[in-house]
Amino acid sequence: MAERYDVVVLGAGPAGYVAAIRSAQLGLSVACVDRWRTPSGEYALGGTCLHVGCIPSKALLESSEHYERARHRLAAHGVSVGEVSFDLAVMQARKEAIVRRMGRGIAALFRKHGVAWIPGHGRFVAGGTTWKLAVTGEGGTRELEATHVIVATGSTARRLPDVEVDNRIVCDNEGGLAFERVPERLGVIGAGVIGLELGSVWRRLGARVTLLEALPTFLPAADESVAQEAWRLFTGAQGLHIELGVRVESVVRSREAATVRYRRADGSAAELACDRLIVAVGRQPASEGLGAEAVGLAIDAQGFIEVDKNCRSNLPRVYAIGDVVRGPMLAHKGEEEGIMVAEIIAGQHGHVNYDAIPWVMYTMPEIAWVGATEQELRTQGIAYRAGRFPFAYNGRALGRDDVEGFVKILADAVTDRILGVHAIGALASELIAEAVLAIEFGASSEDLGRICHAHPSMSEVMREAALALAGRSLNG
Ligand code: FAD
Ligand code: NAD
Repeated sequence: MAERYDVVVLGAGPAGYVAAIRSAQLGLSVACVDRWRTPSGEYALGGTCLHVGCIPSKALLESSEHYERARHRLAAHGVSVGEVSFDLAVMQARKEAIVRRMGRGIAALFRKHGVAWIPGHGRFVAGGTTWKLAVTGEGGTRELEATHVIVATGSTARRLPDVEVDNRIVCDNEGGLAFERVPERLGVIGAGVIGLELGSVWRRLGARVTLLEALPTFLPAADESVAQEAWRLFTGAQGLHIELGVRVESVVRSREAATVRYRRADGSAAELACDRLIVAVGRQPASEGLGAEAVGLAIDAQGFIEVDKNCRSNLPRVYAIGDVVRGPMLAHKGEEEGIMVAEIIAGQHGHVNYDAIPWVMYTMPEIAWVGATEQELRTQGIAYRAGRFPFAYNGRALGRDDVEGFVKILADAVTDRILGVHAIGALASELIAEAVLAIEFGASSEDLGRICHAHPSMSEVMREAALALAGRSLNG
């Protein structure tokens, strides 16, 4: 006999578990199916984000930044710490403890809201007035019946043809977060978000890091002024070695090392020998094995489930959210979609503003933006004005010894409505929330410039950048 629910969510990453909780808050009976297993074989909630993504990477970024600051930045404050060392096993154990704690937290939230957690691999079996699904887990196969289905099966690391990932020598994000010792020479294929974040972690801990990037432009999605500043800082004092415009031809793995053969931008042949290699060339949607063909669920050529702006699939009462559908592969984008879909199912007017989704890279300094870049506005022929202010003129930044970077605000030349905000600097991940609010509320740069900001605070740089747009910065 099938278990019957109003909503079955497939996948308990940030998109799926938030959709499940919001559905339950709205009075719907909900089951959430997930097949994730920890290395010790236990089923666990939280998906890529919690286990091998956002959370563990940020834990290691934080630990490695403490080490770097202790070595190079504390002396300027008059703090001497003598010989500084670190214990990677402790760092890794701390990271794992955070992951376990948050996983238990999601399970507790499911209990609190009455969401049934069904461990195992879920797939569609048949459709009709209700959807029939099968979940294969440790104890065999369970049958579920649902009025609504939300597919939130996420993504997996994209592979390069003929490059086998063993997650020991040649790694994806899973292996790249779990090294037991710091490699002397780390190679990274792909200078995108994962490459730069994980490259930064291991560089801070002592690895010589080389990133090989196929595109001729560094960070093309970021505003070009931010990308230029990031390039200067990462390849300058920080010592990340980044080669652009390369074509990787082969990767040869031996017992303790790997060699990447590639062509440089000028066509010459080159080789990179490294002790560990991270392949970080993007992610692909996890839509295989879903039983899509059994029910006629439309999937595009890249494997994304086809959806409209409200995440409705081609099937009635079947939705798809998060990394498995179009749009940026970001945890908070998936969460917003989960809330929207739950509200639509409950008869409300769910909505996601895709123009107000922030991007953050947790490098040092951090990079964050929301809205259009200057090059996008130029291409679209939109008349704009730009205001920019450096952290170096800010008292709090000087006090923190975090003077690198700037905030730039782009606003419509006629209406003054804010179109894009770009920050590179310490705490940019936190500062960007104000810019998201401004864009969501349709604020003008004058609005931002007239809001009282605490002094001294990094957030004053946001205000000063807004004032700079009208040529009236107070401190610069
Ligand atoms: P996922 O988190 O991938 O979860 C999908 C879940 O579905 C998984 O648990 C999977 O086991 C399960 N599943 C799949 N198929 C089935 C099935 N058939 N049956 C049952 N269960 C199934 N994003 C940010 O916003 N900020 C960051 O700082 C950030 N850092 C990242 C760092 C790294 C190293 C990586 C790899 C990613 C990072 N991301 C970050 C991206 C973020 O992890 C994803 O955007 C996010 O996890 C997507 O959420 P999701 O719920 O769509 O999918
Ligand atoms: P990415 O798209 O950010 O970067 C991949 C890079 O690899 C690109 O620059 C691409 O040009 C390059 N590339 C592709 N094929 C290549 C090849 N054959 N040789 C050399 N370079 C090649 O993807 P990612 O870094 O793998 O991260 C995946 C996704 O995870 C991101 O798109 C992002 O959505 C998410 N993520 C987010 C955060 C965050 O929000 N802080 C952190 C990590 C990951």
